[in-house]
Amino acid sequence: MMEFLEVDQVHKNFGGIPALQGVSLKVEKGKIHGVIGPNGAGKTTMFNVINGVYGPDEGAVIFEERDITRFKINKIASLGIGRTFQVARIFNEMTLMENMMVPLIPRRVSKKAGEKKALELLEMAELIHLKDQLGVEISGGQKKLLEFMRTMMADPELVLLDEPFAGVNPALIERLIEITFELNRTRGKTFLLISHDIPSVMKLCKNLTVLSAGTTIAEGESEKIRHDPAVIDAYLGH
Ligand code: ATP
Repeated sequence: MMEFLEVDQVHKNFGGIPALQGVSLKVEKGKIHGVIGPNGAGKTTMFNVINGVYGPDEGAVIFEERDITRFKINKIASLGIGRTFQVARIFNEMTLMENMMVPLIPRRVSKKAGEKKALELLEMAELIHLKDQLGVEISGGQKKLLEFMRTMMADPELVLLDEPFAGVNPALIERLIEITFELNRTRGKTFLLISHDIPSVMKLCKNLTVLSAGTTIAEGESEKIRHDPAVIDAYLGH
């Protein structure tokens, strides 16, 4: 059992106020792993530490047996960690196709190969008919799908999805779930996703990590976690 990503006892303060006070997590390669926990638990801060937005005050992040704790964002991305945001960060004044091509700008990929890849991903997301529309013209849920597909253009092995289902209509949630399964099954991609949508998390994730008040309070198989009294008390019961 190879540990693909490990977050080890990470602490992070903001102006003396602790956001993370000993968060740990282990993700296996090829898994779809969920992160749940109440508002303010530190979930997004943990993502920011993993992908290099912040360096932690203490603790370590290990990816493929390499200590990436103090690496910069671009370096971490180039090692194969992709990420989406709670509110999709797409370019409103660019077409969907142009948005898709952005991650390829610093890479040596031919325009033709890049376009082929972009079209495949837009097809998978059922956004292909919108490829020439501007970002501003699509719905919030479609923006999230587009951001997800744009992240895949860089071919990350590990994808961090921050609240992929929040503010997304049920039909698009189903599509997001299917796409995640497909990328996992057919391309072996590993996912770590934060979500408050417990039914979707239970569908997608065999393993869960539960954060509360900046610490990891439980980790393991989703079915066991959902019946863990500490988890129910901290989160699921409310
Ligand atoms: P939610 O489910 O509401 O998105 P979360 O679990 O993702 O919450 P975080 O966003 O990581 O929680 O926030 C954890 C704590 O850290 C909160 O108290 C938050 O206010 C604080 N925090 C996060 N980022 C910053 C920052 N840049 N500066 C100051 N405080 C911050």
